[in-house]
Amino acid sequence: MPNSYLIVNAEVFDGTGSPSAPAEVLVEGDRIVAVESHVDDARRQDAQIIDGRGATLMPGLIDGHTHLGFGSTVEHTSPRTEPDEEKVLLIAHCGRVMLDHGFTSVYSGGNRMPQAEVSARKAFAEGWMPGPRLLATSWEGSAGLVSPGHYDFPGIENRPSDPESISQFVHAMADIGVNMVKLSLSGESAVVAGTSRVLQFTDEEVAAAAEAAQQRGVWLTAHAHSAEAIQLALKYGVRAIYHVTFADDETIDLMIEAKDRIFVAPTPGIIYALLHDEEHPPTEGMETQETHDSVRQVVPKLHAGGVRLVPGGDYGFAVNPIGKNARDLQLFVEWFGFTPHEALRAATQYGGQLMNMGDELGLVRPGYIADLLLVDGDPTSDVTLLQNKDNLAMIMTGGSLYKIDPSRRTTAVAVGA
Ligand SMILES: [Zn+2]
Repeated sequence: MPNSYLIVNAEVFDGTGSPSAPAEVLVEGDRIVAVESHVDDARRQDAQIIDGRGATLMPGLIDGHTHLGFGSTVEHTSPRTEPDEEKVLLIAHCGRVMLDHGFTSVYSGGNRMPQAEVSARKAFAEGWMPGPRLLATSWEGSAGLVSPGHYDFPGIENRPSDPESISQFVHAMADIGVNMVKLSLSGESAVVAGTSRVLQFTDEEVAAAAEAAQQRGVWLTAHAHSAEAIQLALKYGVRAIYHVTFADDETIDLMIEAKDRIFVAPTPGIIYALLHDEEHPPTEGMETQETHDSVRQVVPKLHAGGVRLVPGGDYGFAVNPIGKNARDLQLFVEWFGFTPHEALRAATQYGGQLMNMGDELGLVRPGYIADLLLVDGDPTSDVTLLQNKDNLAMIMTGGSLYKIDPSRRTTAVAVGA
């Protein structure tokens, strides 16, 4: 007999964006098997009862752009100069912190050590290290593909186009076993001043990446602030597009046309963190204020056009540590005009689709994987509740209890309840 849990007395937010409703949820093995107003006596008799009084049951949160490999969490700050062995331990540490904060799946935003991320994916999946369901990403290919973690953003004007090396990069990353290969199609002003709108790859280089990715069955992810970079991503079938800061109306329309095949992570978390960094206030070349102002214009248009926007605000830096990830949901509401239901849907249903598991992940629905949170209070009226892990009375991943408030476990007789 597999593990069986029956969660009773909770308001259920199912992930679709529909209003919450009271229901009982039965989990057997790794799956949700019933969501009903009253699960019948025969089915409930072997289940352990979890009391959801005063709480909301919802799908586990899914993050679309986090860097486990950058190593900083709310518990530990990484200087990013550790020896490699310590960096590997930090990837595992970051995974555990994600899970503690209710993030049961992560679509990685890139890692300096992709082999270590692939290993972490295995460790988390097999359950011998605590961590989220993970899709692993390459290191971030910068123009000229110098070396991992090297960000110089030289652009395309003063270097020869080199599609062959880009193709080799994609093949090398596929050999390691990553799910996604990431290209920095634009620069990044927060790293090298004034480069966010400078194109970093030629058309034929992105074409070569796309061809190799197709051959090897990996997806491409684009770091793309500028309209030009976003259009290149769209042209060559990039699946996840990050930032989209300076999209003009033409580019917004192209994204809306492509809405069924792309996901967009506009990364408000890192912008918020940089704007509020008192220790190192942003300099002019970082374009932080412009980035903020522009993305707040762009995202509501994408949202109105039905583009699947997902949270994931570039967490993992010291200034923007892992563990703060749920702040993106608040910023989706306050900056982009999402309702709380829409913000939660972005983190659950759309997250499941981003993980390419939309038919079994991201909803509270029979047949779906039991990645579930029991949240004290009502996050559908106040998404900030999710920023405090103490509000998570239960974290279940794949039908296993990772965390449970002992007072929620009840020995009450389930039959006929
Ligand atoms: Zn990033």
